[in-house]
Amino acid sequence: MHTFETELKKKIINFLHLKRALSLVWQSAPGWTLISSFLVVMQGTLPLVSLYFMKLIVDSVTVGMNSANQKAVFEHTLVLIFLAAGTVFLIALSRSASSVVNETQAALVSDYVLDLLHAKSIEADFEYYENPKYYDTLYRAQNDAPFRLTRIINNLVQIGQNSVSLIVVFGLLASLSWVVAAAITITALPIVIVRLKYSNRTYQWQLSRTAKERKAWYFHLLLTDSRHAKEIRLLDIGPLFRNRYNTIRKELISERLSIISRQSTVDLVAQTTGVIAIFSILIFITQSVFQGNITLGDMVMYFGALQQGQSFLSALLNGFTGLYEDNLFLTTFYEFLDLKPNIKEPTNPIPVPKTIKEGISFENVEFCYPGKETRALNNINLHITTGQVIALVGENGSGKTTLIKLLCRLYDPTYGRITFDGVDIHNFKILDLRKELSIIFQDYIHYYLTARENIWLGNIDVPIDADNIMRAAKCSGANLVIDRLDNGYETILGKWFGDGTDLSIGEWQKIALARAFFRESQIIVLDEPTSSLDPKSEDEVFKRFRQLVAGKTAIIISHRLSTVKMADHIYFLKNGEILENGNHEELIAFDGEYAQLFKIQSQHYK
Ligand code: ADP
Repeated sequence: MHTFETELKKKIINFLHLKRALSLVWQSAPGWTLISSFLVVMQGTLPLVSLYFMKLIVDSVTVGMNSANQKAVFEHTLVLIFLAAGTVFLIALSRSASSVVNETQAALVSDYVLDLLHAKSIEADFEYYENPKYYDTLYRAQNDAPFRLTRIINNLVQIGQNSVSLIVVFGLLASLSWVVAAAITITALPIVIVRLKYSNRTYQWQLSRTAKERKAWYFHLLLTDSRHAKEIRLLDIGPLFRNRYNTIRKELISERLSIISRQSTVDLVAQTTGVIAIFSILIFITQSVFQGNITLGDMVMYFGALQQGQSFLSALLNGFTGLYEDNLFLTTFYEFLDLKPNIKEPTNPIPVPKTIKEGISFENVEFCYPGKETRALNNINLHITTGQVIALVGENGSGKTTLIKLLCRLYDPTYGRITFDGVDIHNFKILDLRKELSIIFQDYIHYYLTARENIWLGNIDVPIDADNIMRAAKCSGANLVIDRLDNGYETILGKWFGDGTDLSIGEWQKIALARAFFRESQIIVLDEPTSSLDPKSEDEVFKRFRQLVAGKTAIIISHRLSTVKMADHIYFLKNGEILENGNHEELIAFDGEYAQLFKIQSQHYK
């Protein structure tokens, strides 16, 4: 009983998915969907209309052979032949129209779905991109979206068309005899059952193969992506990954093959029953002609109907099987679309202070990444007075970047609060909060756009031709890099597009710094901002740093203690806690872990 109920629930959910798929198709291209539906009906009925004309032609010829006025009958038959030809022409016309309509509709639907996916991708919590638990969903939704709905449309068209045809065939057969119509339906049942059963198995198999498929895809990426090309060649590990890829693909193929071959065997048995039934009916039809119950033309029509009915049924079942398999995609796609963000907007937002007066505070902040046991941050208490430059120092994994992620609400603390002038940042609209933050993370983006755009993206609210783009470039030293480029600020950076120019990592970093300076925010956060700059450039940036961030509050994360030294206050983090804090002199005098680290680093430079 229990399994029956879950099965039933599953079926209902599947049905709802289909309803939603239909409404997606409708929303993305209502006009084209209407035309397409009309063509479906045309293509479903016209072949049978042409069959009907065949019947009339045969009947007319039969009459004509025994008629005194053969000429008149011949002319009548000619008209019928023209009509039949017209029908066949209409079939060809609607097929051509269909291919145009379906292609256009598929492209529109696919773009619409991608747009939905893009909107959701930027709206989804950042956690979604960092948590392996969600990765399958994201992978499926993003990889399958462009073609899955198109497949669904094709299947729906197939189902629609063949259903219409089958109804007409059924009507035709019923007009001959209800018993025959019922018999043919019953003999079709085994095929239906077999197909559904096997599409269920395929569906289950598809669910289970995702992990394997993703792994194969990973090896494919290692072999083909430009980021990996260097190391793959140097270590000569390409053949190893090719092997791994092939092994996984072979396993997948042999699994698929075993399902298909079993399905085909059972299918053959089921179809044999169908064939026996059809030929029995043929005997019945032939007998009816001899008994004079139906005409020769009727016989032609019923023969045709039976034959076509078989192929309609088979195509219909294929359509259903395809749809059933596509449900897997729909489930994950809707899961993705229906995600509710954990990072919530305030119900009664308070404006962010135009000038933060007292500063930023972390009060007893604790944070644990979802699904993790240990806390990434623990008991964090710190206050940054407006205009101060503070530094966060600590080993890899000590929690520095996590602290910044909390500040810009990519995550919310699991305990404690972060405030601007005593107001919890939860009270600010997320966009308003982020407007006041200019953050360059370690893995900042290399935008393959013009140099000008690369800086302008820091603040797209101001016009792109603004003078201050150049001013920002000057601040970070990017102006020298850009002046050397062929087209100056209009040069496309990166090698992605035609005449793009690639930069060195240090040069990219200068561009990213310029972007950070360009943003008119009250707080600037730089995560390892100068790690790739040569010592001279670094020195220049930091000599002017105070001037550059004048009036702003700055947070710098750095391993280079020469950089850290100039901060007003330094927080030394270890295992997610603040172990020591003070200015450079105080921490050296304290002679703790910071002082030790400083000693080790100074030795290298002696
Ligand atoms: P740091 O910036 O000091 O190098 P992080 O703040 O990046 O350190 O990381 C702090 C701790 O949180 C580390 O133990 C790290 O493994 C863990 N961590 C970082 N990002 C994630 C994540 N997305 N999911 C789970 N754990 C994470």
